[in-house]
Amino acid sequence: SDGSQPRDPLVRRLTVLSGPSGVGKSTVVAEIRRAHPEVWLSVSVTTRSPRPGEIHGVQYFFVDDAGFDRLVAEGRLLEWAEFAGNRYGTPRGPVEERLARGEPVLLEIDLQGARQVRGAMPEARLVFLAPPSWEELVRRLTGRGTEPPEVIERRLAAARVELAAEKEFDVTLVNTSVRDVVGELLTLMAVRS
Ligand code: 5GP
Repeated sequence: SDGSQPRDPLVRRLTVLSGPSGVGKSTVVAEIRRAHPEVWLSVSVTTRSPRPGEIHGVQYFFVDDAGFDRLVAEGRLLEWAEFAGNRYGTPRGPVEERLARGEPVLLEIDLQGARQVRGAMPEARLVFLAPPSWEELVRRLTGRGTEPPEVIERRLAAARVELAAEKEFDVTLVNTSVRDVVGELLTLMAVRS
């Protein structure tokens, strides 16, 4: 062997959008769903309860703990993580089918999930969604103003750690405008082949 790694062109169509909590990842994905229905989005499985307006099979597949355990045991999740007391995971089958056909795939997942994808599929492109500034992230994380100071402190400490993950990513997109981020993301996904 000459030591060169065979590059997997199929996995290179996989784009992972991640970033600190509160940075607006789900808003970006909601905008893609609204303005670009031709883009296929992976639908995650979660044990959390649906929020008002969320539809089973659209934003998430909502399952109970036993259902999630079964998916993990059967190896049917590409990655999964616990976030704020609930579990979230990416169904493996639909992602692998699309990659096998050479079609682009976008995952919107938390940082722990992004690291798992990096480990399992080093050719995937990892995109870090960054806040326009630290002040803006603080504003978003404290925005509701209903939590006690110690809860907010904990959230800000976590955000500081999460921002440091940027160096593990291939690309950073700064979330100044949702429409700009969507445009940049779709361009990245299209030019990659
Ligand atoms: P939310 O409950 O607000 O919809 O999502 C909470 C967090 O879970 C977000 O950071 C979101 O990116 C992340 N998330 C959603 N789906 C998945 C998934 O399939 N895997 C992982 N690892 N994280 C996910």
